[in-house]
Amino acid sequence: LQANFSIVRNEDGPVTGLITVLHDVTEQEKIERERREFVSNVSHELRTPLTTLKSYMEALEDGAMQDENLGPRFLQVTQNETDRMIRLVNDLLQLSRMDSDEISLDFFTVDLSEMINQVIERFEMINKDKNIAFYKEVPSYPVYVDMDKDRIYQVFDNVLSNAVKYSPDGGEISVQMFTRADAVDVEISDQGVGIPKESQHRIFDRFYRVDKARARNLGGTGLGLAIAKEFIHAHGGKIAADSEWKKGTTILITLPYSVINKAEAGS
Ligand code: ADP
Repeated sequence: LQANFSIVRNEDGPVTGLITVLHDVTEQEKIERERREFVSNVSHELRTPLTTLKSYMEALEDGAMQDENLGPRFLQVTQNETDRMIRLVNDLLQLSRMDSDEISLDFFTVDLSEMINQVIERFEMINKDKNIAFYKEVPSYPVYVDMDKDRIYQVFDNVLSNAVKYSPDGGEISVQMFTRADAVDVEISDQGVGIPKESQHRIFDRFYRVDKARARNLGGTGLGLAIAKEFIHAHGGKIAADSEWKKGTTILITLPYSVINKAEAGS
Protein backbone atom coordinates (compact mmCIF):
# COMPACT_ATOMS: atom_id res chain seq x y z
CA LEU A 1 0.00 0.00 0.00
CA GLN A 2 1.31 3.43 -0.93
CA ALA A 3 0.16 6.65 0.77
CA ASN A 4 0.42 10.16 -0.69
CA PHE A 5 -0.24 13.11 1.66
CA SER A 6 -1.25 16.61 0.62
CA ILE A 7 -1.56 19.43 3.07
CA VAL A 8 -4.63 21.62 2.67
CA ARG A 9 -4.43 25.18 3.92
CA ASN A 10 -6.07 28.50 3.19
CA GLU A 11 -3.73 30.91 1.37
CA ASP A 12 -0.81 31.44 3.78
CA GLY A 13 -3.22 30.57 6.55
CA PRO A 14 -3.18 27.74 8.97
CA VAL A 15 -3.32 24.14 7.89
CA THR A 16 -6.97 23.18 7.67
CA GLY A 17 -6.72 19.61 6.55
CA LEU A 18 -4.73 16.71 5.29
CA ILE A 19 -5.64 14.64 2.27
CA THR A 20 -4.38 11.10 2.22
CA VAL A 21 -4.56 9.09 -0.96
CA LEU A 22 -3.97 5.40 -0.58
CA HIS A 23 -2.94 3.37 -3.61
CA ASP A 24 -3.09 -0.36 -3.66
CA VAL A 25 0.37 -0.97 -5.10
CA THR A 26 -0.06 -4.71 -5.38
CA GLU A 27 -3.19 -4.20 -7.50
CA GLN A 28 -1.34 -1.73 -9.71
CA GLU A 29 1.59 -4.09 -10.03
CA LYS A 30 -0.76 -6.88 -10.97
CA ILE A 31 -2.39 -4.78 -13.70
CA GLU A 32 1.02 -3.73 -14.98
CA ARG A 33 2.28 -7.32 -14.97
CA GLU A 34 -0.85 -8.50 -16.84
CA ARG A 35 -0.39 -5.73 -19.39
CA ARG A 36 3.23 -6.73 -20.00
CA GLU A 37 2.25 -10.40 -20.31
CA PHE A 38 -0.49 -9.45 -22.76
CA VAL A 39 1.86 -7.45 -24.99
CA SER A 40 4.43 -10.23 -24.88
CA ASN A 41 1.73 -12.81 -25.76
CA VAL A 42 0.45 -10.74 -28.68
CA SER A 43 3.98 -10.28 -30.02
CA HIS A 44 4.69 -13.96 -29.70
CA GLU A 45 1.42 -14.97 -31.31
CA LEU A 46 2.16 -12.74 -34.29
CA ARG A 47 5.82 -13.70 -34.56
CA THR A 48 5.07 -17.41 -34.88
CA PRO A 49 2.93 -17.19 -38.04
CA LEU A 50 5.24 -14.51 -39.48
CA THR A 51 8.29 -16.75 -39.05
CA THR A 52 6.41 -19.62 -40.66
CA LEU A 53 5.35 -17.38 -43.54
CA LYS A 54 8.90 -16.23 -44.09
CA SER A 55 10.39 -19.71 -44.22
CA TYR A 56 7.70 -21.02 -46.57
CA MET A 57 8.12 -18.04 -48.87
CA GLU A 58 11.88 -18.55 -48.90
CA ALA A 59 11.37 -22.21 -49.80
CA LEU A 60 9.01 -21.17 -52.61
CA GLU A 61 11.59 -18.72 -53.86
CA ASP A 62 14.32 -21.37 -53.69
CA GLY A 63 12.52 -23.64 -56.13
CA ALA A 64 9.49 -25.13 -54.35
CA MET A 65 7.32 -22.88 -56.53
CA GLN A 66 8.35 -24.89 -59.62
CA ASP A 67 7.53 -28.19 -57.92
CA GLU A 68 3.98 -29.10 -58.81
CA ASN A 69 3.41 -30.85 -55.48
CA LEU A 70 5.23 -28.57 -53.10
CA GLY A 71 4.23 -25.27 -54.75
CA PRO A 72 0.47 -25.44 -54.07
CA ARG A 73 1.01 -27.05 -50.64
CA PHE A 74 3.36 -24.33 -49.46
CA LEU A 75 1.08 -21.64 -50.81
CA GLN A 76 -1.78 -23.21 -48.85
CA VAL A 77 0.29 -22.98 -45.66
CA THR A 78 0.94 -19.28 -46.26
CA GLN A 79 -2.83 -18.81 -46.81
CA ASN A 80 -3.68 -20.61 -43.56
CA GLU A 81 -1.15 -18.64 -41.55
CA THR A 82 -2.37 -15.34 -43.00
CA ASP A 83 -5.98 -16.30 -42.21
CA ARG A 84 -5.02 -17.10 -38.63
CA MET A 85 -3.25 -13.75 -38.24
CA ILE A 86 -6.35 -11.96 -39.54
CA ARG A 87 -8.51 -13.90 -37.05
CA LEU A 88 -6.08 -13.05 -34.27
CA VAL A 89 -6.09 -9.33 -35.05
CA ASN A 90 -9.89 -9.32 -35.35
CA ASP A 91 -10.21 -11.09 -31.99
CA LEU A 92 -7.80 -8.62 -30.41
CA LEU A 93 -9.77 -5.69 -31.78
CA GLN A 94 -13.00 -7.11 -30.34
CA LEU A 95 -11.43 -7.56 -26.91
CA SER A 96 -9.85 -4.14 -26.96
CA ARG A 97 -13.21 -2.58 -27.84
CA MET A 98 -14.81 -4.47 -24.96
CA ASP A 99 -12.04 -3.34 -22.61
CA SER A 100 -12.51 0.31 -23.49
CA ASP A 101 -16.32 0.01 -23.36
CA GLU A 102 -16.55 0.95 -27.02
CA ILE A 103 -18.89 -1.90 -27.76
CA SER A 104 -22.50 -1.23 -27.09
CA LEU A 105 -24.73 -4.24 -27.15
CA ASP A 106 -27.89 -4.11 -29.25
CA PHE A 107 -30.48 -5.92 -27.20
CA PHE A 108 -33.41 -7.57 -28.92
CA THR A 109 -35.76 -10.31 -27.80
CA VAL A 110 -34.61 -13.44 -29.62
CA ASP A 111 -35.88 -17.02 -29.63
CA LEU A 112 -32.88 -18.95 -28.27
CA SER A 113 -34.34 -22.36 -29.24
CA GLU A 114 -34.40 -21.30 -32.86
CA MET A 115 -30.92 -19.83 -32.67
CA ILE A 116 -29.46 -23.03 -31.21
CA ASN A 117 -31.17 -25.10 -33.92
CA GLN A 118 -29.69 -22.83 -36.58
CA VAL A 119 -26.16 -22.97 -35.16
CA ILE A 120 -26.23 -26.77 -34.95
CA GLU A 121 -27.56 -27.05 -38.48
CA ARG A 122 -24.70 -24.90 -39.70
CA PHE A 123 -22.12 -26.97 -37.85
CA GLU A 124 -23.60 -30.21 -39.22
CA MET A 125 -23.24 -28.74 -42.68
CA ILE A 126 -19.69 -27.46 -42.42
CA ASN A 127 -18.26 -30.45 -40.55
CA LYS A 128 -19.61 -33.24 -42.76
CA ASP A 129 -16.13 -34.59 -43.52
CA LYS A 130 -15.31 -35.07 -39.81
CA ASN A 131 -18.31 -37.37 -39.32
CA ILE A 132 -19.33 -35.77 -36.07
CA ALA A 133 -22.74 -36.78 -34.76
CA PHE A 134 -24.65 -33.84 -33.27
CA TYR A 135 -27.38 -34.55 -30.70
CA LYS A 136 -29.66 -31.87 -29.47
CA GLU A 137 -32.21 -31.45 -26.76
CA VAL A 138 -33.82 -28.12 -27.42
CA PRO A 139 -37.35 -27.10 -26.36
CA SER A 140 -39.82 -27.33 -29.22
CA TYR A 141 -41.29 -24.00 -28.10
CA PRO A 142 -39.72 -20.54 -28.35
CA VAL A 143 -37.55 -19.44 -25.43
CA TYR A 144 -37.23 -15.68 -25.54
CA VAL A 145 -34.02 -14.12 -24.28
CA ASP A 146 -32.97 -10.45 -24.43
CA MET A 147 -29.66 -10.43 -26.20
CA ASP A 148 -27.32 -8.99 -28.74
CA LYS A 149 -27.97 -11.66 -31.35
CA ASP A 150 -24.66 -11.45 -33.22
CA ARG A 151 -22.59 -11.63 -30.05
CA ILE A 152 -24.45 -14.58 -28.55
CA TYR A 153 -24.31 -16.35 -31.91
CA GLN A 154 -20.56 -15.80 -31.85
CA VAL A 155 -20.33 -17.31 -28.36
CA PHE A 156 -22.05 -20.53 -29.49
CA ASP A 157 -19.96 -20.50 -32.62
CA ASN A 158 -16.71 -20.28 -30.61
CA VAL A 159 -17.75 -22.97 -28.15
CA LEU A 160 -19.02 -25.36 -30.83
CA SER A 161 -15.91 -24.76 -32.97
CA ASN A 162 -13.81 -25.87 -30.00
CA ALA A 163 -16.01 -28.93 -29.44
CA VAL A 164 -15.41 -29.92 -33.08
CA LYS A 165 -11.71 -28.97 -33.05
CA TYR A 166 -10.87 -31.00 -29.97
CA SER A 167 -13.07 -34.00 -30.92
CA PRO A 168 -11.83 -37.08 -32.75
CA ASP A 169 -13.29 -37.93 -36.16
CA GLY A 170 -16.63 -39.62 -35.64
CA GLY A 171 -17.06 -38.11 -32.16
CA GLU A 172 -20.37 -37.03 -30.63
CA ILE A 173 -21.34 -33.53 -29.63
CA SER A 174 -24.51 -32.87 -27.69
CA VAL A 175 -26.25 -29.58 -27.10
CA GLN A 176 -28.87 -29.44 -24.38
CA MET A 177 -30.98 -26.52 -23.38
CA PHE A 178 -32.82 -26.34 -20.05
CA THR A 179 -35.20 -23.61 -19.02
CA ARG A 180 -35.39 -22.50 -15.40
CA ALA A 181 -37.48 -19.89 -13.59
CA ASP A 182 -35.24 -16.91 -14.30
CA ALA A 183 -32.54 -18.21 -16.64
CA VAL A 184 -31.79 -20.66 -19.38
CA ASP A 185 -28.87 -23.13 -19.42
CA VAL A 186 -27.17 -24.43 -22.53
CA GLU A 187 -24.74 -27.32 -22.17
CA ILE A 188 -22.38 -28.21 -24.99
CA SER A 189 -20.60 -31.54 -24.47
CA ASP A 190 -18.01 -33.34 -26.52
CA GLN A 191 -16.04 -36.57 -26.23
CA GLY A 192 -12.75 -34.99 -27.21
CA VAL A 193 -9.34 -34.61 -25.59
CA GLY A 194 -10.74 -32.99 -22.44
CA ILE A 195 -9.05 -30.46 -20.16
CA PRO A 196 -6.98 -31.35 -17.06
CA LYS A 197 -8.74 -30.24 -13.84
CA GLU A 198 -6.01 -27.74 -12.91
CA SER A 199 -6.41 -25.93 -16.26
CA GLN A 200 -10.19 -25.69 -16.29
CA HIS A 201 -10.50 -22.31 -14.64
CA ARG A 202 -7.80 -20.85 -16.92
CA ILE A 203 -9.22 -21.67 -20.36
CA PHE A 204 -11.24 -18.44 -20.31
CA ASP A 205 -8.03 -16.39 -19.86
CA ARG A 206 -6.63 -14.63 -22.88
CA PHE A 207 -4.10 -16.78 -24.75
CA TYR A 208 -4.27 -19.65 -22.29
CA ARG A 209 -4.13 -23.03 -24.02
CA VAL A 210 -3.66 -26.47 -22.59
CA ASP A 211 -1.46 -27.53 -25.48
CA LYS A 212 -0.13 -24.49 -27.32
CA ALA A 213 1.34 -26.32 -30.32
CA ARG A 214 -1.76 -28.43 -30.88
CA ALA A 215 -4.15 -25.47 -30.50
CA ARG A 216 -2.09 -23.40 -32.98
CA ASN A 217 -2.00 -26.24 -35.49
CA LEU A 218 -5.76 -26.42 -35.26
CA GLY A 219 -5.88 -22.76 -36.23
CA GLY A 220 -6.86 -21.34 -32.84
CA THR A 221 -6.03 -17.86 -31.60
CA GLY A 222 -6.33 -18.63 -27.89
CA LEU A 223 -8.92 -15.85 -27.57
CA GLY A 224 -12.18 -17.60 -28.48
CA LEU A 225 -13.24 -18.41 -24.93
CA ALA A 226 -11.97 -15.09 -23.54
CA ILE A 227 -14.30 -13.33 -25.99
CA ALA A 228 -17.13 -15.72 -25.12
CA LYS A 229 -16.67 -14.93 -21.42
CA GLU A 230 -16.73 -11.15 -22.03
CA PHE A 231 -19.92 -11.39 -24.09
CA ILE A 232 -21.71 -13.70 -21.66
CA HIS A 233 -20.79 -11.51 -18.68
CA ALA A 234 -21.99 -8.43 -20.56
CA HIS A 235 -25.37 -10.22 -20.78
CA GLY A 236 -25.41 -10.87 -17.03
CA GLY A 237 -24.79 -14.58 -17.65
CA LYS A 238 -22.19 -17.18 -16.70
CA ILE A 239 -19.91 -19.55 -18.57
CA ALA A 240 -17.99 -22.46 -17.04
CA ALA A 241 -16.21 -25.64 -18.03
CA ASP A 242 -16.48 -29.13 -16.64
CA SER A 243 -14.17 -31.67 -18.15
CA GLU A 244 -12.38 -34.91 -17.68
CA TRP A 245 -8.93 -35.27 -19.23
CA LYS A 246 -9.09 -37.52 -22.30
CA LYS A 247 -12.83 -38.11 -21.83
CA GLY A 248 -14.50 -34.93 -23.00
CA THR A 249 -15.58 -31.44 -22.11
CA THR A 250 -18.84 -29.72 -21.20
CA ILE A 251 -19.22 -25.98 -21.45
CA LEU A 252 -22.19 -24.62 -19.52
CA ILE A 253 -23.63 -21.25 -20.48
CA THR A 254 -26.33 -19.59 -18.40
CA LEU A 255 -28.24 -16.58 -19.67
CA PRO A 256 -30.92 -14.63 -17.81
CA TYR A 257 -34.09 -14.17 -19.84
CA SER A 258 -33.88 -10.46 -19.50
CA VAL A 259 -30.91 -8.39 -18.43
CA ILE A 260 -33.14 -5.31 -18.43
CA ASN A 261 -35.70 -6.76 -16.02
CA LYS A 262 -32.92 -8.07 -13.84
CA ALA A 263 -31.33 -4.63 -13.61
CA GLU A 264 -34.72 -3.09 -12.75
CA ALA A 265 -35.40 -5.72 -10.10
CA GLY A 266 -32.02 -5.10 -8.55
CA SER A 267 -32.40 -1.34 -8.34
P1 ADP B 1 -8.15 -21.76 -29.05
O1 ADP B 1 -8.25 -20.82 -30.18
O2 ADP B 1 -6.75 -22.14 -28.70
O3 ADP B 1 -9.06 -22.95 -29.18
P2 ADP B 1 -9.93 -20.85 -26.92
O4 ADP B 1 -9.93 -19.60 -26.13
O5 ADP B 1 -11.13 -21.11 -27.76
O6 ADP B 1 -8.61 -20.86 -27.79
O7 ADP B 1 -9.73 -22.08 -25.93
C1 ADP B 1 -8.64 -22.04 -25.00
C2 ADP B 1 -8.11 -23.44 -24.74
O8 ADP B 1 -9.07 -24.20 -24.01
C3 ADP B 1 -7.81 -24.28 -25.98
O9 ADP B 1 -6.52 -24.01 -26.51
C4 ADP B 1 -7.90 -25.69 -25.44
O10 ADP B 1 -6.69 -26.04 -24.78
C5 ADP B 1 -8.97 -25.58 -24.37
N1 ADP B 1 -10.31 -26.01 -24.87
C6 ADP B 1 -11.34 -25.21 -25.19
N2 ADP B 1 -12.42 -25.94 -25.56
C7 ADP B 1 -12.06 -27.22 -25.47
C8 ADP B 1 -12.74 -28.47 -25.69
N3 ADP B 1 -14.01 -28.52 -26.11
N4 ADP B 1 -12.04 -29.62 -25.48
C9 ADP B 1 -10.75 -29.57 -25.05
N5 ADP B 1 -10.06 -28.44 -24.81
C10 ADP B 1 -10.70 -27.28 -25.02
